[in-house]
Amino acid sequence: MDCIFCKIANGEIPATKVYEDDTVLAFNDLEPQAPSHILVIPKAHIASAADIAPENSAVISHIFEVIAKIAKDNNFNDGFRVVNNCGDSAGQTVKHIHFHLMAGRDFTWPAG
Ligand code: AMP
Ligand code: ZN
Repeated sequence: MDCIFCKIANGEIPATKVYEDDTVLAFNDLEPQAPSHILVIPKAHIASAADIAPENSAVISHIFEVIAKIAKDNNFNDGFRVVNNCGDSAGQTVKHIHFHLMAGRDFTWPAG
């Protein structure tokens, strides 16, 4: 499968890793939208949030444990934003589920 985040997970494509364990990888986004902009992914391919099911959801809860750890380790004490874009209309460009973890500035709602 020609999936850029699978290739990052298996080392074929380089990335600046900030966290890694057996099932989850976190690395810096190439085009940061905040002073800190980290992508957190399962190493195993899940296409999008619409594909989460009982068989694969354990890694998703683990991702949120990892997000809390990264936030603590990087002193995101003022707050942070977690974003998942699911599907074309939401702007998902990479079809391997990923959570944007952004910090270091104020965020507006519902966009930006
Ligand atoms: P999304 O639009 O939600 O699918 O987010 C995809 C994100 O992946 C964007 O923020 C891109 O900047 C980022 N991205 C794409 N290719 C790479 C790469 N090789 N290394 C790091 N981040 C990437
Ligand atoms: Zn993939």
